[in-house]
Amino acid sequence: MLQYPDLQLYIGGSWRRGTPGQPVFNPADESVIGAIPAASRSDLDDAIAAAADGLKVWSKTSPARRGEIIRKAAALMRERIEEIAFAITLEHGKPIAQARLEVIRGCEFFEWDAGEGQRTYGRVIPSEPGIKYIVVHRPIGVVAAFSPWNFPMSQPARKIGGALAAGCSIILKAAEETPAGALHIARAFHDAGLPAGVLNLVFGVPSDISEYLIPQDPIRLVAFTGSTAVGKRLTEMAGRHAKPVLMELGGHAPVIVCDDVDPVETAIMSAVRKFRNAGQVCTSPTRFFVQQPLYERFAKAFAEKAKAITVGRGLDEATEMGPLANGRRVEAMEMLVADARAKGARVLAGGERLGNRGYFFAPTVLADVPDDARAMREEPFGPLALINPVETLDDAIAKANALPFGLAAYAFTNSARNADRLAEDVEVGNFSINTLEASVAETPFGGVKESGFGREGGAEGLSHYTIVKNVSHRLT
Ligand code: NAD
Repeated sequence: MLQYPDLQLYIGGSWRRGTPGQPVFNPADESVIGAIPAASRSDLDDAIAAAADGLKVWSKTSPARRGEIIRKAAALMRERIEEIAFAITLEHGKPIAQARLEVIRGCEFFEWDAGEGQRTYGRVIPSEPGIKYIVVHRPIGVVAAFSPWNFPMSQPARKIGGALAAGCSIILKAAEETPAGALHIARAFHDAGLPAGVLNLVFGVPSDISEYLIPQDPIRLVAFTGSTAVGKRLTEMAGRHAKPVLMELGGHAPVIVCDDVDPVETAIMSAVRKFRNAGQVCTSPTRFFVQQPLYERFAKAFAEKAKAITVGRGLDEATEMGPLANGRRVEAMEMLVADARAKGARVLAGGERLGNRGYFFAPTVLADVPDDARAMREEPFGPLALINPVETLDDAIAKANALPFGLAAYAFTNSARNADRLAEDVEVGNFSINTLEASVAETPFGGVKESGFGREGGAEGLSHYTIVKNVSHRLT
């Protein structure tokens, strides 16, 4: 029978109980399924020392051998997919089919990074006779990483995959609300033969851990995925110690629907994507700007699809959208809908909490949402779609770029001219045309403006985990 794992810390290649900390809830019924093993100061000191020792071994391990261990761990995770997906659904609430896809996606990140680790090529710079200039990429050192709760397995996979493939060791503080995804990763690496100390997993009070870890001497990179507010705080802290950061922060993705596409087909595709993971995705399509001739048909089809989505417990195979991951998201949805409604938005679907046990909120569609509604400016991070009409492409671009975010954006058009113009002028790190997939393992992912800096995945992904060293060698 599948079981939620016994939650422990993983430090220096061993499992530790830690101090029993905050409870872990099942968001489908608010029952307690575990307790966080909180790391003490001495656990963190041990993790730092272990990571420094692990770095010495791992940075001298050949990229081929590193790749072999990473691939072996990914293969174990693929074998354990049912167990891992079960744990993710239990702690996060997402439908089990989406949890399985998340495990596969996480494995794809690992497998891609494993290969990229073998391709961190340097170069030889042409020089006068008798001297050689050689540029090499070396592991940056020990990484302090912080991953969020919306994808309990694939978010940690991004950070661990990048660090390990580049030859770094890592201390990961995974999300306290969804600890099992990261724990299963650590378990797979342990079983795959990763040397002790290369990967360390801790939990606790997030601010206490980041404030303690970031200034420590062995830490050479701070990698974070989460809200812009916290990302700025960690960036400031890292800056005080002149340490680089890799920040993947919030978004508020616009979708521009041009008047040359099928509005019903586009609306249905958009609604399915919007409510994936209950909208708790940094690239979730949220602000829909639809050219006037298609507006009403698009909004109607979107709302019909939203109303048809089966909301329920994630472990039920028929469920298409589970509960939100925590009570904070329900409160945020209620506040954003009430505010938009008071300012004149039309509620075309949903708009309210479902039931009184578990964090269920109806797939919600608002139309004619004024620019001053909070939902138009604050990332909803929930099952909320905002649909507004626009006249011209210029209007759509101006509205898309109006926020300080710039993570993902989407457009639907059959015109190469429109597509080219939009891809050029919309200010984001990831722009998708006629698809709502923002990134895959082999493409670089990250934001501009307040959505962060640095890229994960793609050929660029490992660059943050390495330093460039130039070696000048006079031949004697
Ligand atoms: P939050 O800002 O309190 O926390 C976000 C994440 O950061 C959590 O995993 C948390 O454990 C961690 N965190 C918080 N303070 C920290 C600190 N001082 N040091 C280290 N880690 C810290 O917000 P929340 O209520 O958990 O989530 C809501 C918002 O977070 C959303 O509106 C969304 O904007 C953002 N978010 C973004 C992503 C993403 O993929 N970019 C993922 C999850 C949450």
